[in-house]
Amino acid sequence: MFRTNTCGELRLANVGQTVTLAGWVQRTRKMGGMTFVDLRDRYGITQLVFNDEIDANLCAEANKLGREYVIQVEGKVAERSNKNTNMETGEIEIIVGKLNVLNASLTPPFTIEENSDGGDDLRMKYRYLDLRRSNVRSNLELRHKMTMEVRRYLDSKGFLEIETPMLIGSTPEGARDFVVPSRMNPGQFYALPQSPQTLKQLLMVSGMDRYFQIVKCFRDEDLRADRQPEFTQIDCEMSFVEQEDIISMFEGMAKHLFKTIRGVELKEPFLRMSWDDAMKYYGSDKPDLRFGMKFVELKEVFDGKADFAVFNEAKYIGGICAEGCASYTRKQLDQLTDFVKKPQIGAKGLVYARVQEDGTVKSSVDKFYGQDVLQDLKEKMNAKPGDLILILSGPDVMKTRKQLCELRLEMGNQLGLRDKNKFALLWVVDFPMFEWSDEEGRLMAMHHPFTHPKDEDIPLLDTDPAAVRADAYDMVCNGVEVGGGSIRIHDPKLQDKMFRILGFTEERAQEQFGFLMNAFKYGAPPHGGLAYGLDRWVSIFAGLDSIRDVIAFPKNTSGRDVMLDAPSTIDDKQLDELNLKIDIKEAE
Ligand code: ASP
Repeated sequence: MFRTNTCGELRLANVGQTVTLAGWVQRTRKMGGMTFVDLRDRYGITQLVFNDEIDANLCAEANKLGREYVIQVEGKVAERSNKNTNMETGEIEIIVGKLNVLNASLTPPFTIEENSDGGDDLRMKYRYLDLRRSNVRSNLELRHKMTMEVRRYLDSKGFLEIETPMLIGSTPEGARDFVVPSRMNPGQFYALPQSPQTLKQLLMVSGMDRYFQIVKCFRDEDLRADRQPEFTQIDCEMSFVEQEDIISMFEGMAKHLFKTIRGVELKEPFLRMSWDDAMKYYGSDKPDLRFGMKFVELKEVFDGKADFAVFNEAKYIGGICAEGCASYTRKQLDQLTDFVKKPQIGAKGLVYARVQEDGTVKSSVDKFYGQDVLQDLKEKMNAKPGDLILILSGPDVMKTRKQLCELRLEMGNQLGLRDKNKFALLWVVDFPMFEWSDEEGRLMAMHHPFTHPKDEDIPLLDTDPAAVRADAYDMVCNGVEVGGGSIRIHDPKLQDKMFRILGFTEERAQEQFGFLMNAFKYGAPPHGGLAYGLDRWVSIFAGLDSIRDVIAFPKNTSGRDVMLDAPSTIDDKQLDELNLKIDIKEAE
């Protein structure tokens, strides 16, 4: 037997047993005539002891072990005199009788311990070593556990796990496609799926009834901390359902995950918030409800009450009330002003008002407004003595709300209100069907073009499409969109109309989605679905901000895999076979 036990399982009860372990040398310490080795594997760390007085040769061998050498040892489990209660195996050690070096190792480029001294780039270049660190590895263990629970839940509900192809045509999720040239079809390209959206809808036409897949999706977008060019979705679709059926099925799954993974029993139904309210009160379609500071609209408080052009000309004035923050110093307020003026946020300035102990209000616009207006403000904001009111205004309602959203989140951070161990879940519902794109100069589908409009809004498709709401829903946890979906159109005529509103000519719609429209002519059941972002779920459960830490081999913010050095050029022969010529434009 190569090993009798792992490095994480021996306890006091095993004392006296002869065991064989194998693993990596995390570190060695020499103390007098004794050499101690921390032996590591996936399961934990066990202390090995070599005693010079018992076997000088063996001890000399042990002293030659370098970090990350792979070894096998045989020895006796003994009770430790110096117990380490921080380690699961900390009550025992192995008095080694035999040592077998299985493989040597170069000195690793960074310390492979919980707190590594390696910078990000180095750890990514040597990701296989980084993954030996228990905190990184435990993220993957968590991920595994979650996917097992997802499968268990969906299987118990009658879902079939069905794979769909990776080499397909374009799928409309609003990002750029990654494309793959076809050697056998010169000049033609596959697109990698942005999601299996159309395929899962075809599976519903096939009568599969309930489908799921834990599937890679590819989107060529500019990257941010919570984005990767390839990421994993728990993709689901169901037939003969209404919005409520889907919401209850997948709320059930979220509850199942919380219970099995975190031991948290979520009893209440999740909050529902309309998209309109989410934007009005939080300036975001993914509000972080771990804390309050709901927006209050203040246009009528200030309108025309003074000669203050900034407010008089603003289309929107909104405020948040930061409890107990009236003591913020001038410097702190200046920093908040700088924060909202950052180009990424883009506000012109910040107005603040402190409610003093005697109830009077002192503000940065005192020279314009008297106490009457400021008292009105206090009342509207429901502010108490000691509170700080922060106000933004601007010519564009949505833009100003988004700026106020950033300020609210920043205050949440500053006040420690965004606790990683607290979970605030909700469904955002009643999304608009379309959003206007300045870039494209046309309406775009807010979710995707297959989303069903609300029945009662269908007549508006002809008269006022921008007012049409969709049977679409997102699940939000702690300000992160963890999933989203919709009821789909199953009527080919309605689908055709939708394409027309979205600016597709008949030919283009036919060319891109003819297969789906055709399928709908052969008895498509009413259907709908949703996709959860697996990476995001895992990072939330792991208490991490970035999804990179829950992916075994992630890409950096330029979309590069620095370990594989991909993407890379290909040689001329390969280009030739693919009938491709490279013509890189000089950067402007
Ligand atoms: N395909 C959608 C997405 O990737 C999810 C869905 O509508 O089921 O966002």
